[in-house]
Amino acid sequence: MSKPIYLDYNATTPLDPRVLEAMLPYLRDEFGNAASRGHAYGWVANEAVEQARHQAADLLNAQPVEIIWTSGATESNNLAIIGTALAHQHRGRHIITQATEHPALLDPCHVLQRQGFEITVLPVDRHGLISIEQLEAVRTTGTILVSIMSANNETGTLQPLHEIGQWCRQQEIIFHSDATQAFGKIPLDVEALSLDLLSASGHKIYGPKGVGLLYLRRQPRRIRCEPLLHGGGHERGVRSGTLNVPGIVGLGCAAEIARREMQLDATRISALRDRLWQQLQPLHPQLQLNGHPERRLPNTLNITIAGVDGENLMTALPQLAFSSGSACTSANQQLSHVLQAMGRTPEQTRSSIRLSLGRFTIVEEIDTAARLLTGGAEKLFKINPP
Ligand SMILES: *Cc1c(COP(=O)(O)O)cnc(C)c1O
Repeated sequence: MSKPIYLDYNATTPLDPRVLEAMLPYLRDEFGNAASRGHAYGWVANEAVEQARHQAADLLNAQPVEIIWTSGATESNNLAIIGTALAHQHRGRHIITQATEHPALLDPCHVLQRQGFEITVLPVDRHGLISIEQLEAVRTTGTILVSIMSANNETGTLQPLHEIGQWCRQQEIIFHSDATQAFGKIPLDVEALSLDLLSASGHKIYGPKGVGLLYLRRQPRRIRCEPLLHGGGHERGVRSGTLNVPGIVGLGCAAEIARREMQLDATRISALRDRLWQQLQPLHPQLQLNGHPERRLPNTLNITIAGVDGENLMTALPQLAFSSGSACTSANQQLSHVLQAMGRTPEQTRSSIRLSLGRFTIVEEIDTAARLLTGGAEKLFKINPP
């Protein structure tokens, strides 16, 4: 049996072959420790790490020195939330975030809450958006940090980062964004968006797993961040540990490719995504779009097919790889907190699926997927009529 058609790019992406090529020397002969300053093995590794730092910074309009290498966006989020909260708690202990954040953002907030920090989780509207008025309403003199994701991983909804950034800058509140899904897919400029911290990951942008970055602003005002990992004082003392040189080279290369090809990818992929949506129209009136109709990532299509259990549809279609509204929080079988925060009922949430496309998706796959999905849904309608 051939492999299923992959429509789960928001869960992870395959390695771009060009990224693999860039990494190979650092998995073979160039095995040096980037912190070894006394010999050529170390110099070669360090040079590769610094080139990757430039490549990642260029994609964000940041300075290379503002990029901190981590093990992935989960670590970047933990460092951003816990690290800045600890470093700034003399100013206040209030943090604002919103309901559709990734667990890797909400869980560290809960850890702080247990330590006496006050966490406000803003509700979202039916498209998954928050507003400046909501921030205004909940801010206190003790608010030190606002963390709002750039793009939602389940629906692709894009938050109004520019407005939030301007507001935070005016209020002198630190602004962090989990940009794991937006990084490399849409333009992100830390200056234009007034971002102080930003999290991203290698494996969502055709780079390797187990490597990520935290953008940590240094100018014009330096944002302090307490380390979570203590050791050799690597990465400006913010994140100790021997650097994952091949992983970092891969993330740098993936960022460079994204910078050059993002526009073309976005145009092609959004056309395929819209073609898929069009081909699913026969499922009306059972069909509903989840997420903002326009303010959305180019690759993401989250839909509810009323009366069709998403898990059952997945089981019925082993030829397709996608995810359902009930398994989005990885290992545990919970209903999506994202769709529920957007006002979907548990029933609608169970009947939701996420189709996420990417660089290697081709039109034939979309046509096949549309045929299989409509056929699969019709079959389930017969068993359980709408
Ligand atoms: C995938 C993802 C993460 C976690 O990233 P890892 O690098 O796998 O730890 C965090 N936030 C969002 C929005 C994601 O999509």
